[in-house]
Amino acid sequence: MEEELELVLNKYRSAGRILSEVRGGVIELVKEGSSLLEVAEFVENGIREKGGEPAFPCNISRNDEAAHATPSIDDKAVFGNDLVKIDIGVHIDGYIGDSAVTVDLSGNSEGLVSASEAALNEAIKIIHDGISTIEIGEVIENTMREHGYKPVVNLTGHGLMRYNSHAPPTIPNVKYEHGVILKENDVVAIEPFATAGAGKVVESGNAEIYSLIKAKPVRLREAKKLLEEIKKYQGLPFAKRWLPRERLDLALRTVKNTGALREYPVLREEEKGLVSQAEHTVIVKKDGCEVTTR
Ligand code: MN
Ligand code: MN
Repeated sequence: MEEELELVLNKYRSAGRILSEVRGGVIELVKEGSSLLEVAEFVENGIREKGGEPAFPCNISRNDEAAHATPSIDDKAVFGNDLVKIDIGVHIDGYIGDSAVTVDLSGNSEGLVSASEAALNEAIKIIHDGISTIEIGEVIENTMREHGYKPVVNLTGHGLMRYNSHAPPTIPNVKYEHGVILKENDVVAIEPFATAGAGKVVESGNAEIYSLIKAKPVRLREAKKLLEEIKKYQGLPFAKRWLPRERLDLALRTVKNTGALREYPVLREEEKGLVSQAEHTVIVKKDGCEVTTR
């Protein structure tokens, strides 16, 4: 049993190591004029070349977009003087590393970027077996407010489980009433989002990211084939641009109409405030925690 646990934890560690290598390389590529699609593909192909699999599509969210933006098929968008969040997921055999970094191409969001980074670091410092998620949320909120920003209240950290990139518990970025106690060897992602806006995100626009909730029968040949492709992701989020192109719009709409899919529309700051994000995955330990994605 003990050995099995170590085996599982080592898969989390390997996923984290791959993630950290890829994240190091991608920061160099995020520049004014470079292509979002090329950056996303660099991340996703880099993960595969190193022996992992993407746990979800590379999220590239700019400015007031907080999360769930990823390039579409043949996306022509390039970076301007944006505030860019790159959120990366890697899995080995279903065991996930999840980490994000903010790159400031505008040159004037230094304070906002440090607010989420400092909040993440302060949270990591206090995590150990027996801590309540209330205390984590409190330290995140306090650190951000000391930096002059507020947390985005409806985006949270979360647990990670095999083939589940958003498992319980929810780890709020604000002081909250109902907490959960973290235990040794729990694997959780801590991800503070900072803003000077309303401190809340809303869904906007079409989704480029989906996940399978439960397969339902379809008759259209292309939809059947598509569903078989989608099943390979084992419930983890995937991008529309990863799917086979054959009558894709019709096939995807057909599968979607059966209610089999969850959609992830882009999440934007309610008052169009700029948003920064910092995220790491940690394994909770007796007297501290081990960051797998550093
Ligand atoms: Mn993430
Ligand atoms: Mn996450």
